[in-house]
This record gives sequence, C-alpha cells and structure tokens, in this order.
Amino acid sequence: MELSRKNLGITASLTLEIDAKAKKMKAQGMDVIGFGAGEPDFKTPGFIIDAAKEALDKGYTRYTPSSGTIELRQAICEKLSVDNGVDYKSNEIIVSNGAKHSLYNIFQAILNPGDEVIILAPYWVSYPEMVKMGGGVPVIVKTLEDDNFCPNLVELERAITSKTKALIINSPNNPCGCVYDRPLLEGIGELALRHNFLIVTDEIYEYLLYDDVEHISIASLGSEIKNKTLLVNGMSKSHAMTGWRIGYTAGNQKIIGVMSNIQSHSTSNPNSIAQYASLAALKGSKETVYHMVSKFDTRRKYMVSRINSIDGLSSIMPSGAFYIMLNIEGVVGRVYKGRRINGSLDFADALLESQNVAVVPGIAFGADKHMRLSYATSEETIEKGLNRIENFIKELE
Ligand SMILES: *Cc1c(COP(=O)(O)O)cnc(C)c1O
Repeated sequence: MELSRKNLGITASLTLEIDAKAKKMKAQGMDVIGFGAGEPDFKTPGFIIDAAKEALDKGYTRYTPSSGTIELRQAICEKLSVDNGVDYKSNEIIVSNGAKHSLYNIFQAILNPGDEVIILAPYWVSYPEMVKMGGGVPVIVKTLEDDNFCPNLVELERAITSKTKALIINSPNNPCGCVYDRPLLEGIGELALRHNFLIVTDEIYEYLLYDDVEHISIASLGSEIKNKTLLVNGMSKSHAMTGWRIGYTAGNQKIIGVMSNIQSHSTSNPNSIAQYASLAALKGSKETVYHMVSKFDTRRKYMVSRINSIDGLSSIMPSGAFYIMLNIEGVVGRVYKGRRINGSLDFADALLESQNVAVVPGIAFGADKHMRLSYATSEETIEKGLNRIENFIKELE
C-alpha cells in the first residue's frame, strides 16, 4: 500500500534521536555525558506547579475553547504589550500544544503547494519538515559564523522569488545563539513589505539573553510590519515548562482564525490544567527566569573559554538561548581508529564511541562543520564532558 507521498519525505527529529540514543546508553549503565539537551535542566517554578494543583482541585478539567481560555489569551495580550510593545486583541491569539504546534498550524494555514518559505541556516531542525508538511518548499539561506550567524540582507533578498510566502526568523537563535539587533530586524521588515511575504518570528528564547543584549520583537516595528508578522512564543524554555506543552501565536485575525479551525478539528484545546498554570506563570514574578539565566551565563562563559583552549576547536560567544556552536573545521580530515572524520556525523559518532559524550551533529541544522552543545546541564557535567572532548581530540591522528 502506498502511504502519503507528502509525508513519506518527512525525516525523524535528529536531535530527539540523539537524545534517545544517549538515554538508552545511560539506561544500560554506561557513564554517558549528554550535551544534546534541548530543554532547561531546571524544575518548573513552584508557584506554577501550585497553580496546576489548584486547577485540578477547582475542577478545571474539561474542554476549554479550542484556541485557549479567554483569561490566558488576555494574559498573553498583556504580556505582549508590556514586554514586547505590541498590542493584540484576544481574537488575534491562539494557544496551542507548544510552540512547535503553533508553527505547525501556521504552515498548515498559510501554504499552498509550491509556496516557498525561506529558512536561515543553521536552523532549528523542525522548520524545513514543517514547511514540507504544509505542502511548501523550504528555501535555505546560509548564515556565516563570521557574521555571528546573522543573515546578510543582500543574500536574503537574492533568495526571494514570486513564490516566497514567508520567512522564518528565530531570535534569540537555536542553535546559533545569535540575537538580531534593531537595524537587522528593520531590514528584514522592509524586505517583507517590499516583496509582500509573511514573517514567522519564533521568540521562544526571548528571556534567555546575556551581556545586556536586548530582545526586540519584529512585530513592534510598526503596524505594517505587524500585519505581516506571525509571532510565536511559549512557556517551554522561559519557564522550564517543556512537558506542559503550551505555546501561542499572535497575528492577523484571518490567519489566526484558519489556525483555530485546523486546531479545532485536530487537537482541540491545549491541556486545560497547563493553560491554568501558564496563566499563573505569565502573571507571576520572573525571578526564577533570572536565576536560570544567571546560571546559564556562567556555564556559557566557561564552555566557550574551555573550547577555545582546545587545539582544533573553536566557538564564538553566544548572546542568547543555551547552545554553543562548536566549530570542528580544525579537526575535519583527521582520523579516529582508521576512520576519517569528514563531517559532523562522523565527529558525533566517534566522540560517542570513544568517550561516551553525546553532541548533536550540525548537519541536523544544515551546518556540517559544527556541532551543537547545549549548556542546559550542570556545571559538573559540562566540566567532565569538556575534559572528555579534550581527550578525544588528543586521540585523533
Ligand atoms: C524548543 C523550541 C521550540 C518549541 O518549543 P515547545 O516546547 O514546542 O513550545 C520552538 N522553536 C525553537 C527554536 C525551539 O528551540
């Protein structure tokens, strides 16, 4: 029997796969160090847990409106106004089962067969697959480490065609750690207006910023740009709530309406208890977020300085999120146990085999000369892992 042609081409998430491999080795009793984590290693703050318990006790255990409770959507409007300086009405908001689901719904809502979506590489693994699931064509534009992985507007404009429907931006960025400044965002906004395409902005790492870098939402750059923007955010990364599955989209009411219809026939409402807890998270103090950020900051600095002290490896200092892009160009071509390291997959395999250290090969993000290392793991683990990476490099011929 022939299965769905559109969906047979969808690949499994390589990052989740690596994570599963490392977890399996751990379960077998091996001393594995994992740098694959795509989630904070902190517990969900206590006041949010308490709110979930309260939701259960109060009986918030039934269906809510498909696109989220009115209270939560209003709190999201409030948050977007206060934090991001952009005003939405509650009918311009849809709450979904995590930001990943928000993005999925967006591409289902906006794409027709053959529509192109520009994705900046290195990219988050799911973007190209989500575009394909929506029937669209991902168009990859590379960014360079020399530019801090920020897009070059001339290169970006070159990729625009009459079929360009949208551009995805993600700042602070996973996996690159770059944060887009105002002139860059203005340039992107100007392109979107001149060439008439949508901007999908994934702002899930909004609060995870270092060195006084500022997060600017492109939607705040004026009403014309706002009308072209679909703003995605969620609770997972900022509030250590990955398992709760709450994300949201703000945007043009017509597009939000199509997304709501899709959601009403697929998942219905996101979990009612998680919605209630998210309301508390949005209204509560950000102290726990700041605590988490200060921990990440210490680890980030340690990691970058250690990596740059290892011969053949390097990393630039990220300004946001919790990932390092480890540049392995200096060791490509060297040999591990008779096997030549040609790229990021070979490096990841050899490192796991030699030292029981799991990292994500950059090829998953369209960057084969880099590895992604997450610092959402304890200082002790980071130190141990980097010692092992240093040993691994010494082993190479
Ligand atoms: C983690 C992540 C998401 C999705 O988060 P959810 O848990 O689905 O809310 C979206 N975009 C990027 C870049 C991420 O790293």
